[in-house]
Amino acid sequence: MKLIQEKGAPGRKLSLIGPGQVPSVTLRAPLRTQPPALPQVSETEISRHYSALARRCHGVNDGFYPLGSCTMKYNPAVNEEAASLEGFTGVHPLQPAETVQGSLHALAEMEQLLGAITGMDAFTFQPAAGAHGEFTGLLLIKAYHHSRGEGNQRTKIIVPDSAHGTNPASASMAGYTVINIPSAPDGCVDLDALRQAAGPDTAGLMLTNPNTVGLFDRNILEITRIVHEAGGLNYYDGANLNAVMGIVRPGDMGFDVIHLNLHKTFSTPHGGGGPGAGPVGCKSFLAPFLPGMRAVQDANGTWQPQRAEQSIGSVRAFWGNFLVVLKALCYIRMLGRQGIPEAARNAVLNANYMRVGLQDLYQVAYPGTCMHEFVLSLEPLKEHCGVTAMDIAKGLLDHGIHPPTMYFPLIVHEALMIEPTETETKETLDEAIAVLRALYETAQKDPDYLHHAPHHCPIKRPDEVTAARHPVLRWSAPVQD
Ligand SMILES: *Cc1c(COP(=O)(O)O)cnc(C)c1O
Repeated sequence: MKLIQEKGAPGRKLSLIGPGQVPSVTLRAPLRTQPPALPQVSETEISRHYSALARRCHGVNDGFYPLGSCTMKYNPAVNEEAASLEGFTGVHPLQPAETVQGSLHALAEMEQLLGAITGMDAFTFQPAAGAHGEFTGLLLIKAYHHSRGEGNQRTKIIVPDSAHGTNPASASMAGYTVINIPSAPDGCVDLDALRQAAGPDTAGLMLTNPNTVGLFDRNILEITRIVHEAGGLNYYDGANLNAVMGIVRPGDMGFDVIHLNLHKTFSTPHGGGGPGAGPVGCKSFLAPFLPGMRAVQDANGTWQPQRAEQSIGSVRAFWGNFLVVLKALCYIRMLGRQGIPEAARNAVLNANYMRVGLQDLYQVAYPGTCMHEFVLSLEPLKEHCGVTAMDIAKGLLDHGIHPPTMYFPLIVHEALMIEPTETETKETLDEAIAVLRALYETAQKDPDYLHHAPHHCPIKRPDEVTAARHPVLRWSAPVQD
């Protein structure tokens, strides 16, 4: 303890950067005067303890996990192997370019492949996630309007009400006013509302297509045209690209800038909130503003890092999560020109197979063919027998199935959003359909049973709000007698 006290002596300045350079911080003395009472256990005991806890966790390796590509997609082991090759893990971003030709080449190749898939001309790999990509893309839009002398006039970003919450959040972080437009009854963008919202103050529109209710907006060309005619740019939220990759390209739909969630569409793991990657792609007229550096070949064919002339700066260090980019590159190379659209088709097929297997019992929020996901509304069930989306989700846990996304999108009441992904077998889908049908019957006969589900899980219904607002993070030793 003496050590800690000495280190944290009051008033001691800790220099962060180096002599003569601001800033510095002042450490406060620690409040602790006694060493913490850490538990005394053997390695075997602690290993058993954590193994037992791990067995209680449900992962995509244990069973069906219909949260979909949005969070839980196939993570091939070969990606990990490629990304752990020493030539990639042992490099430093400040090494001379001549000594990291392979890494720069891999980045350039990924840029070219993502460009081919999306119809974009240039990419930055700096953003660490989708939301970070949104923010970056909006800064590109902002830089573009400023470069044309319209920066102060174009202050609004249009966002449909079905959008993911990160869209309006990113827009306001980037200093924009968010204009929310309602969806039409069919779940797609209301064209009249869009026409009314678009004008000389429009900086851009943010849209995901297929959208969060799993529908491909048939009016997409009209939508992007309305925004372009008003002088705005179109931002594509690429979180749902899994449904259309290799089939249609956002660049051909009229989008100018886009993010991709490599940890969704391109199979890199989400691992406890990170690391992810949200590369941002754009049409060539926005490329001069891209952050960070791009790998380009010089006259001798050597790959060199190059910064854009009017770059917005950096949104993250160096090349972002380089190893995550490599894993996604490995996945794209493995699937190839045929496998990429095949994965999209199978994702759509699997979602429709489940939808058709359930739609006579459960209300599908937007009937008709869906893309990679569909949304059920359990409102009729709740009105009829008091069983909620939460009760059904808890019931799924008793059958070894992870619940799908719940209570999202907000425009559907008692929503369960099901996204099976392309890698599930027919048998798995049949079993999930059977379980959901059986739960529906239970809801009619014995709603109380479902109110108390799950019956076979170690944790039943945690109070998530209290846990988030008032987390108890302290370890406390069992009382000894
Ligand atoms: C997941 C998601 C995002 C945010 O992406 P992150 O990588 O989680 O930051 C944005 N939009 C949609 C539609 C999403 O599903």
